[in-house]
Amino acid sequence: KGHIDLRDIRVSFTQNGAALDAVRGVTLDVKPGEFVSVVGPSGCGKSTLLNIVAGFLKPSAGEARVDGLPISGPGADRGVVFQQYSLFPWLKVRENVEFGLKMQGMGRAERESRARTLLGLAGLLSFENHYPDQLSGGMKQRVGIVRALATGPQVLLMDEPFGALDAQTRVVMQEILTNMWQQLRLSVLFITHDIEESIFLSDKVYVMTARPGRIKAEIPIPLPRP
Ligand code: ADP
Ligand code: ADP
Repeated sequence: KGHIDLRDIRVSFTQNGAALDAVRGVTLDVKPGEFVSVVGPSGCGKSTLLNIVAGFLKPSAGEARVDGLPISGPGADRGVVFQQYSLFPWLKVRENVEFGLKMQGMGRAERESRARTLLGLAGLLSFENHYPDQLSGGMKQRVGIVRALATGPQVLLMDEPFGALDAQTRVVMQEILTNMWQQLRLSVLFITHDIEESIFLSDKVYVMTARPGRIKAEIPIPLPRP
């Protein structure tokens, strides 16, 4: 479960009447339980690819599948984390995490137990009753990750999740994310422009070039993990 498969993806836009390809001929895959990064300069199409897997954007050509099924829209099998933490400021930390579960109609006790388990993994259990405003940037982003994981997705999609954080916090976040990923064994597609970050985190790194965005290299990272 959690196999992402993009084949020969092209995304075209019309700009000033001219057709432009944002990405062209992109083929990539994330095997179940794998941590895969996509790196490349700004504008090379990283977010475009992530939005296709998330189901927010349809490719102009090519095939996009998760577990063999064509992606037709967003789904609970795929959690998404963006650079900007989009927490509800009027809800406490645990209420933020439980929100999606509540929408699914899950009972209070089960919601609470699931949220507390995940908050514990992220080292945030003692902050469950805080409001987002009372947390640091790194902590807010950890809540964002926990919230994306709450519904039990097989795939976690992350678009520059640590882009707004200072260097020291980033390193801490990378370690926390690695720990969570190892415990939860889900597939991760991680977008970053930071090659060092991608190497530290990933089993495999795709390097893209811009205009139009293409995969330039696919690099397995055979080193033992921290
Ligand atoms: P990054 O993903 O590196 O933060 P942005 O999302 O800001 O980069 O987008 C990179 C470039 O793509 C920018 O020049 C921006 O103007 C352009 N862009 C992004 N989204 C759109 C859009 N919906 N329409 C037109 N141009 C866009
Ligand atoms: P990255 O995430 O690598 O910064 P993006 O996926 O945001 O790149 O953008 C890839 C390219 O597609 C950019 O050149 C951007 O200008 C273009 N682009 C993205 N969205 C749109 C859009 N809606 N209309 C026109 N161009 C877009």
